[in-house]
Amino acid sequence: MTQLPALDYVRSGTQGFFRLPFLRPDGAHLSDALAGKDCRAVLLGVPFDGGATIQAGARHGPAAARAASALLPGYCPHARLDVFATLKAKDGGNVCASPFSLPLTHEAIEAEVGAIASSAATPFLVGGDHSITLPALRARARYCGPLALVHFDAHSDTSSGALWGTPAHHGTWLRQAIEEGLVEKGALVQIGLRGPHKDGDEHDIARAHGACIVTSDDVIDRGWRHAVSQVWRRCEGKPLWVSFDVDAIDPAHAPGTGTTVPGGLSSREARALLRGLRDLHLVGMDVVELCPPLDAKEMTAQLVAHLLFEGLSVAASRVRASTSTTG
Ligand code: MN
Ligand code: MN
Repeated sequence: MTQLPALDYVRSGTQGFFRLPFLRPDGAHLSDALAGKDCRAVLLGVPFDGGATIQAGARHGPAAARAASALLPGYCPHARLDVFATLKAKDGGNVCASPFSLPLTHEAIEAEVGAIASSAATPFLVGGDHSITLPALRARARYCGPLALVHFDAHSDTSSGALWGTPAHHGTWLRQAIEEGLVEKGALVQIGLRGPHKDGDEHDIARAHGACIVTSDDVIDRGWRHAVSQVWRRCEGKPLWVSFDVDAIDPAHAPGTGTTVPGGLSSREARALLRGLRDLHLVGMDVVELCPPLDAKEMTAQLVAHLLFEGLSVAASRVRASTSTTG
């Protein structure tokens, strides 16, 4: 079974991401639920916003993304494949931990992403605030070594803990990931950065790590194809994680997020950029910072569903390529 029929969604009132079946309706451990299954992608909700500095509400992101994604069918005309039939994707439910505790939540994310990473499946996380990416990278890097990283964001997310008096929040995860050796030097591309900085050194940590920074102005000036070529130059052949903060996209296209910055990517550019990753070795993806209480007409939730679909399509293309070579 790939997607459940649309009428099942109407009947039950709720379904998994993209109407996919739940992997563990009985609450089993992910490792047990995945054992013996030919499942190549697991979507995991992370309803946590304890790492958000200003606006809360991203904890409602997974529920909104599930509802929005229930409208999408599974055939990708761009890649010419049935994404969900190829991936045999499942909804892994939500990471369940205390909404009051960032350390406990991070521990639970690391355990669950680790369980997926130890199987043949690719994890897709739906946040939640951007702090959730750090434990996911820790879990994934344990199986792959340091990762190539494509980071879509308006912000560099390389702050120190000084500003808020704590080292772990949604603006520090990338600095920590670099410091912990989770990101391969020279294999980091940041896309969509813009707006005022704290100071002229804002991007130094990423640059010292060999990052290629493609600002939203660069995308306007040189086009999305140039950004894609930068990603390929640095990430081809390497295990690639894609971390997508929806505030990379202009607030006119994505109002439902906590730290909007005008002058961002269009939703069309974002889609084209993700499609440009096809045939790269995607080993995980997160889409974060969807904040439904701030959304307008579910625009951002719809966008998140489509961004996830494009990422799943990249993973499905790779599965198809590997099965046509081996089979
Ligand atoms: Mn951001
Ligand atoms: Mn971010």
